[in-house]
Amino acid sequence: MLNIILLGPPGAGKGTQAARLQAARGMVQLSTGDMLREARASGSPIGDKVKAIMDAGELVSDAIVTALIGERLDTCTACGAIFDGFPRTKAQAEALDLLLAERGRQVDHVIELAVDEEALVDRIIGRFTCAKCGTGYHDSFRPTKVKGVCDVCGSTEFKRRPDDNEQTVRTRMAEYRAKTAPILPFYEARGLVRRVDGMAPIEDVAAEIDAILDGTA
Ligand SMILES: [Zn+2]
Repeated sequence: MLNIILLGPPGAGKGTQAARLQAARGMVQLSTGDMLREARASGSPIGDKVKAIMDAGELVSDAIVTALIGERLDTCTACGAIFDGFPRTKAQAEALDLLLAERGRQVDHVIELAVDEEALVDRIIGRFTCAKCGTGYHDSFRPTKVKGVCDVCGSTEFKRRPDDNEQTVRTRMAEYRAKTAPILPFYEARGLVRRVDGMAPIEDVAAEIDAILDGTA
């Protein structure tokens, strides 16, 4: 069963690709954030522990996170796994190796959806939508046919999301680089990191990921 780590900054389409891999290949996405939220709500012994730790404002230990991942892997031994949000540190990467080895598995690929920061800034800051019908536009890539008038409903009112600004995009990129910096060299040294152009059309990105997973890339 394939085990992959999927990386990509906000805007690279990671969620879209993870959803597709789950639907098309029956893979399960192991998102650390989701798992902790679910565990917390589950009322299980480990869930109660997670709740107590989070309520105290403390970080859930690697041991607990790996235990949760192990539990999840064991619920479907025939499922491929997509790791999302874990590992973040070299220690976690080593813990993941151990966890997988205990199950006769290994990290097969680390796929990074790469983006060009300048292009991403351009893509995001130009977005706006019709305030009435919600049609999406872009200053450069998809302007209205008549300036200031919605093509679909004729409305002259538009809105922009306040977080679609250059500073937000650059901050998110910096956070992403800080989060992946500790683990990329670890996997690069093992020749596992593959980069896919996250700015390409969704179908092209999907085809490239498929080729990597099928060993035909
Ligand atoms: Zn409209």
